[in-house]
Amino acid sequence: NEIKRLLEDALDESSRAGEVALQARTEAEKANEAKSVFLASISHELRTPLNGIIGMSQLIEATELTQEQRGLIEMLRLSADNLMRVLTDLLDYSRIGSGKFRIEISPVNLDEFISNIAPVMEMMVKEKNLAFELKYINTNSVVMTDRDRVGQIIFNLVNNAVKYTTDGTITLEIYYDKGINITVSDTGIGIPPDKIKEIFTPFGQIKREGNAKNSGLGLGLTIVRNLLKMMDGTIDVRSVPSQGSSFMVNIPCPLQAGEVLTGGIFEDDEKFEHI
Ligand code: ADP
Repeated sequence: NEIKRLLEDALDESSRAGEVALQARTEAEKANEAKSVFLASISHELRTPLNGIIGMSQLIEATELTQEQRGLIEMLRLSADNLMRVLTDLLDYSRIGSGKFRIEISPVNLDEFISNIAPVMEMMVKEKNLAFELKYINTNSVVMTDRDRVGQIIFNLVNNAVKYTTDGTITLEIYYDKGINITVSDTGIGIPPDKIKEIFTPFGQIKREGNAKNSGLGLGLTIVRNLLKMMDGTIDVRSVPSQGSSFMVNIPCPLQAGEVLTGGIFEDDEKFEHI
C-alpha cells in the first residue's frame, strides 16, 4: 500500500509538472508573439521615413553637384542603405518568428534568374574593389521554387562575403541537380571552426578587432537558415581563418513538368561541415 501511495503521489506530481510546463510554454509563446509584433512594427515604422531619406538623396545625386557634395551624398546613401538592410533583416526575422512568412512557389527559369541577379551581386563586389567570378552549370531549365527567397539567400551570403573580405575574389557558383546548389566563396578573414554553429544563431556574431568588425545585427545567416528550413534546404560551411570561407546551399526543387534535365554536375565536396 505504501508503494501504491508513493506511486500515486509521483503520478500526481508529474501531471502537475506537465500542467506548469504547458502554462509556461503558452506564456512564452505569447511573449514571443508580442516581441515579433513589436519588432515588425518598429522596423516597418523606421523603414518608411528611411525610404524618404534614400529617395531624396537619389534626387540630390541627380542634380549638379561639386565633387565634395557628391562625396558627401554618396556617404549618406551608403549609411542609409546599410540601415535599410539592417531594418529589412529585423522585419524578416520577426516575420519568420511569427509564422507570417510564406514560401511562394512558381516556375523559375534559372538562366534568366541568374542573369537578373548577377549584375546586382557584381556591383556589390566591385564596389569594394574585389574580383567577382560567376560560374553556372546545368541551369538551362525551368524549376519550381520561390524566386525571391532564393535571391534573398544569395544576396545575404554575397553581402557577408563582401563584408568580411578585404581583398581577393568572391565566387558565386550555381548548378542544378534535383535542387539548386549555390556556393558563395570568399578570400576573407574566415571563421574559427568552433564559431561556425554560433553564427547561425539569432544575433550571433564573432567579436573582431579593427575594420573587420561587424556592421549588421547578426541576423543575416539566421534568416538564411530559417528560409532554408522552410524550403527543406541545407547549408554547409567550410572556412579557414585568414584564408576564406565557402557557404554551400542546397534547395531541393523539381523541374517544371515537361522539363528535361541536360548537362553535367560538379563533384560533391566532403570537406564541408554540415550545419
Ligand atoms: P552580420 O553579418 O549582420 O553580423 P550574419 O548572421 O550574416 O550577421 O553573420 C553572423 C556572423 O558570421 C558575422 O558577424 C560574421 O562574424 C560571421 N560571418 C558571416 N559570413 C562570413 C564570411 N563570409 N566570412 C567571415 N565571417 C562571416
